Amino acid sequence: MFKRLSFDTKLLTTISSTALLVAALSATTLLAVKNERNEAHRLQHTLEVLNNISQIKIDLLIPSAMVRGYLISGNEQDLSELERYKASREAALGRLSELTAESPVLTKEWLALNSALNTRKEIAKHLIALRKSGGLDAARDYLISENVSEQRKSLFQIFHSMEDEENRLLSESHAKLVRARTASIALGITTTLALFTLIAMTYLLIRKQMEDSLKSQQALESSSTRVMTILNTVSDGILTINKHGIVETMNPAAERLFGYPASEVIGKNIKMLMPASYRDSHDGHMERYLETGEKRIIGMGREAHGQHKDGHIFPIELSVNEMVLDGEKHFTGVAHDISSRKKSQQALIDARDEADRANRAKSEFLSSMSHELRTPMNAILGFSQLMEYDDTLSAEHKDNVQEIIKAGEHLLVLINEVLDLAKVESGRVELSLEPVEVCAIIAECIPLVNALADKRSIRLSHKGLQGVMVRADRMRLKQALLNLISNAIKYNRDGGSVHIEIQTADLPEKDRLRILVTDTGQGIPPERITELFQPFNRLAAENSGTEGTGIGLTITRRIVEMMNGSVGVESEIGKGSTFWIELPMDVAWEAAPGNMPRALSNARQRKDKKTLLYIEDNPANLKLVRQILRNQEHIHLLTSDNPELGMELALLHKPDLILLDINMPKMDGYQLLEILKSEEALANTPIVAVTAKAMERDIKHGKTAGFAEYITKPLDIEPFLETIERCLVGT
Ligand code: MN
Repeated sequence: MFKRLSFDTKLLTTISSTALLVAALSATTLLAVKNERNEAHRLQHTLEVLNNISQIKIDLLIPSAMVRGYLISGNEQDLSELERYKASREAALGRLSELTAESPVLTKEWLALNSALNTRKEIAKHLIALRKSGGLDAARDYLISENVSEQRKSLFQIFHSMEDEENRLLSESHAKLVRARTASIALGITTTLALFTLIAMTYLLIRKQMEDSLKSQQALESSSTRVMTILNTVSDGILTINKHGIVETMNPAAERLFGYPASEVIGKNIKMLMPASYRDSHDGHMERYLETGEKRIIGMGREAHGQHKDGHIFPIELSVNEMVLDGEKHFTGVAHDISSRKKSQQALIDARDEADRANRAKSEFLSSMSHELRTPMNAILGFSQLMEYDDTLSAEHKDNVQEIIKAGEHLLVLINEVLDLAKVESGRVELSLEPVEVCAIIAECIPLVNALADKRSIRLSHKGLQGVMVRADRMRLKQALLNLISNAIKYNRDGGSVHIEIQTADLPEKDRLRILVTDTGQGIPPERITELFQPFNRLAAENSGTEGTGIGLTITRRIVEMMNGSVGVESEIGKGSTFWIELPMDVAWEAAPGNMPRALSNARQRKDKKTLLYIEDNPANLKLVRQILRNQEHIHLLTSDNPELGMELALLHKPDLILLDINMPKMDGYQLLEILKSEEALANTPIVAVTAKAMERDIKHGKTAGFAEYITKPLDIEPFLETIERCLVGT
């Protein structure tokens, strides 16, 4: 209980109880001492009474002896001193009267004594008179008479009685005095002991408190030493500032970081450690934070810059936190030098740029090499084909020529693929992502590989979901799929099968679709699957007699990834492999039926019909435009799904307006535009680009290339119709 009280309360309690005890004991002691003095006084009084009684007795007995001497000698000389004793006795008697005045018993005894003494005086006078007149005999007779003897007895009776009484009082007083003295001494000892105990307690209490405070001070010192040691040894610079931005502390790491000794920074504004560009905004940041609590830096790490004493600026990672000390806001900043991190980041960026540059250079080299190789190849193939038809050639030479043609064709395929890979790798392939119907693409691929499959009696089958769309570049998707299917045929066993299937459910990512191409080949060992997608790696098939370049899968993977898709394979040795392409699903751009605007055509009702040609490889887009223009009765729509047919239709029908897709197989929209523009008959026909390439850059390019307008997919029906009307006005 006492332990739980505060030190002040303890001390106050101890001191006040000490004072109280001392006061009580002092009062008691004072009373005891007073009592003792009273007793001593009374004792002295009794002694004085006894003293006076003794004096009276002496002053009585000496004159008695003198009177008896005279009675015997008859010499009057013997009586000469009588008067002196008489005076002394009278004085003692008077003093005794005063001393006994307070006690009625003693007063009564004193009166008896006085009267007895007077009687005695008369007897003495009578004796002296008898000696003078009747001689010795007469005096002796009287002296021994009954009367005188009685009187003497009674006088001494009184003396005894008085002395007894006084002696009783004396012993009583003495006993009381002894008791009082004992009590005083005991009290004194008790007081001293109590005082001593309390002083000891106070001392112990104070000492305990001092020990405690020393201990806590030591603990504080040791913990503060620990904190200081941490602050002094961490590698990060730590600074504290007050709300005015004045630096209060700075650790050695911060000294090293900024190059200043702490003494040159403490007491100055933190801005001195910042590059000039930060300084102006710093006060504003601080003020705004203190006013609004809006955090720009506080509580979060960020990258900043510091300025070294020698002036150089270096990058730091800075985190600032606030703390409240004595009701004032202070801020702690931890600065970490990230120069080396920045340097290595820059080195990485440089290395990557360098690699990119090297890659581009390689691709450019390959591309120009391929072009240069293709020209002589044309000559080789062309002239050897001519030789093939020369009847004058011997059978042996014909065989040789066929070998040349076969090898030349293989070389041409290789050159084309290398060119394509170079284009893909250098990022020069531009994709036009739009909804593409997967089934249609598969259906287009099958006839292209049928001959190859028939040669080895391989059965082709496919199962698709009609109308399912993916977001892809139609041309490039067809290329990728063709590659997988032709691989499935090439690396199959004779009489085997290839099955193409579309899968939409149970995929790791939703809203995606897989096109699976399953073969019945010999399968690929799991450890070699990663090699599949490396260029020119044919997994030992180069010795099998199967033709190929080993580039196809690499290109396939690159372009599918460019279309936000992925390529994968699952294989079982002896059973076959399944390659798949995964792509995001999409929905067809559709014109909502019934919402077709009629008003436009009403306003511009024409007597003459206008012919419009739309050249577009994607059937889904052709279908959409057909739907949109169905209600425009003044427009006659012609369509072509390939550039060659488109060109023929254009020359045959001389349409009033041509809509042209840009991304098409064999020939792109720009090339076709150039050819169409070069035809005199079509010189004044407006040609409008309709494309999914909606980048600002593409639109600019389109306009400068000679397109009258540039319409981007997905089509916005009203602006689309407006653009058509606008272009038709001038025709
Ligand atoms: Mn297209």
